Amino acid sequence: MSPSRRDGWPSSGGKPRHWLRSAVAKARIIEFVSVDPSSLSDRPISELFAPGRPLRSLEFFPPRDEAGVEALRQTAAALQSIEPDFVSVTYGAGGSTQQRTAQVSSLLRHEFGFTVMPHLTAVNHSRAEVAAVAETHYARGIRNIMALRGDLPNGMPAATAFKDGLHFGSDVVALLKAMHPDLCLGVGGYPEKHPEAPSFEADLVNLRRKVDAGASFITTQLFFDNAAYYRFVDRCHAAGIRVPIVPGIMPVLSLRQITRITDMCGATLPERLIERIEDAGDEPESIEAAGIDWALAQIRDLLAQGAPGYHLYILNRARSALTLAVGLAA
Ligand SMILES: Cc1cc2nc3c(=O)[nH]c(=O)nc-3n(C[C@H](O)[C@H](O)[C@H](O)COP(=O)(O)OP(=O)(O)OC[C@H]3O[C@@H](n4cnc5c(N)ncnc54)[C@H](O)[C@@H]3O)c2cc1C
Repeated sequence: MSPSRRDGWPSSGGKPRHWLRSAVAKARIIEFVSVDPSSLSDRPISELFAPGRPLRSLEFFPPRDEAGVEALRQTAAALQSIEPDFVSVTYGAGGSTQQRTAQVSSLLRHEFGFTVMPHLTAVNHSRAEVAAVAETHYARGIRNIMALRGDLPNGMPAATAFKDGLHFGSDVVALLKAMHPDLCLGVGGYPEKHPEAPSFEADLVNLRRKVDAGASFITTQLFFDNAAYYRFVDRCHAAGIRVPIVPGIMPVLSLRQITRITDMCGATLPERLIERIEDAGDEPESIEAAGIDWALAQIRDLLAQGAPGYHLYILNRARSALTLAVGLAA
């Protein structure tokens, strides 16, 4: 920019004024056609669901350091080719990744043009803190948020984890909807019951609370036996829950990893899957291939039965999502 002009246009120097007018007109056209699309607001994910057009979404977690962010950038670049309908970014227990979740969400949206759904959790936050995080996303054009209670960080007693009456996923939904009714909110659902819920029935009553508070769709906890998802969907329908219920699928990477995860979230590991992983031997690549095969069979069956899409827990790795996309297209 010329230092002699304060409006951002170059000065005319000794050239005639008509030259300036035409240059200004050209520059305005260039300015008009080069509007940064990332400055526009996202479409609500709820508008993307359509019968016969299953949505594909991918979940990232915020890396710990800049090297991890660079690796995530490479994963995101590789995944552009499969054009996910949206990507989500998790929020660390108790707000531990607040900055990184925002940073990675902006990166995925602005550098790669993905529709991004950051997660946001209540644990260890006041209403004002949750509102501030949501407001930052909203100001950046994000219109989709996964609203959750969150898990307690290790060692944090439940008595001090919740503030301001912000205790459950439904409280987060109600808060965000009161702030911005046009926000599209996803919530978590538990095909094998939330581990803390006293019964399936109680858990469904609470899931219904989230939908009644304004949630537009449910993404499920991971599961490996589709029968659990089908039973859950039937129960949800019987409980009057009418929003899309998107199955969450995680391709297995190792028996140790998946045993740890299922111990935490309560998902059942079918014997047949354990056998397949054991048969794959010690090579990580063979185990990964067995995990992808299982996930592929799960997704094919889910889509054939009319699931509204699938959400992949990709653990910041591109390979499973890419291989699954090829397998599903075949
Ligand atoms: C798709 C998905 C994404 C996730 N992403 C993250 C993430 O980014 N960060 C993170 O920390 N965790 C994440 N989690 C884990 C999640 O935070 C935990 O499972 C947490 O324990 C529950 O959160 P929620 O909002 O689903 O629970 P809630 O809906 O609040 O339910 C939690 C428990 O409380 C019960 N309950 C709900 N409302 C009431 C009520 N009014 N009265 C009494 N009991 C009630 C429920 O039955 C359930 O047992 C995710 C889970 C899923 C399924």
